[in-house]
Amino acid sequence: MRVQLLPSTFDGHGHATLEQRLTCYLIDDCVAIDAGSLAIALTAEQRGTVRDIIVTHPHMDHIASLPIFIDDLYPTLREPVRVHATAEVIALLERDVFNWNVYPRFSELKNDFGPVMEYVPIPEGKEFKLAHLTVIALPVNHIVPTVGLIVSDGKSTVAFSSDTAETEEFWEAVNRIPHVDALLIEASFPNSMTQLAEVSRHFTPASLNRELKKLDHNGLDILAVHLKPAYRELIIEQLGALNLPNLNVMEPGKTYSW
Ligand SMILES: [Zn+2]
Ligand SMILES: [Zn+2]
Repeated sequence: MRVQLLPSTFDGHGHATLEQRLTCYLIDDCVAIDAGSLAIALTAEQRGTVRDIIVTHPHMDHIASLPIFIDDLYPTLREPVRVHATAEVIALLERDVFNWNVYPRFSELKNDFGPVMEYVPIPEGKEFKLAHLTVIALPVNHIVPTVGLIVSDGKSTVAFSSDTAETEEFWEAVNRIPHVDALLIEASFPNSMTQLAEVSRHFTPASLNRELKKLDHNGLDILAVHLKPAYRELIIEQLGALNLPNLNVMEPGKTYSW
């Protein structure tokens, strides 16, 4: 499986910058997890192949360019963009984003070829198929309804925590999988901001370290994501001090293969 964290910003020469402001992972050039930077960072070719997007929760950094992505493709879509999310998240997207005020209700609109956007409700805790992938969505502990994901292509398995603080079901499900190749887990704030991390339900390097004790698998790649750009260097320093040899910070724009 090839996984890329799409960059949010580019320098003056068009190269991805390391800061991650928006969340969007691209799997095998066809399935996206979250859509923060989807409309900003895809190549022209990828725009033509990405039609399935899993939305873990409706926070702006995870959906920022979802309406723009559909808007950009509107006249050319020959099949709808499918937004896969829990019923709760779909209801929030309809109420707060695609509500005719912030954006048109694309789920009710058609172009010359048919519908342009379709919601696909996903179950929690039960495997489902999506393109060539098998996915399990598990509720995690964030301030709005949010799911973590375990994604497998039949050869490799990658777990995505999404935004979360201390949680249980996600780890139970991850530990039940015989082999997990990689875990992408959030580390939003430095240790000095523990209080803010707790109220906004995110991890710091210290709370992440405690949380990782729940993980039974050894030796898998652990990639820290969702580092607040203003504290990126400090968080990286604090993650390094944990001395976990398989823990690294995920680099936007780089393709990881498992
Ligand atoms: Zn969030
Ligand atoms: Zn977020």
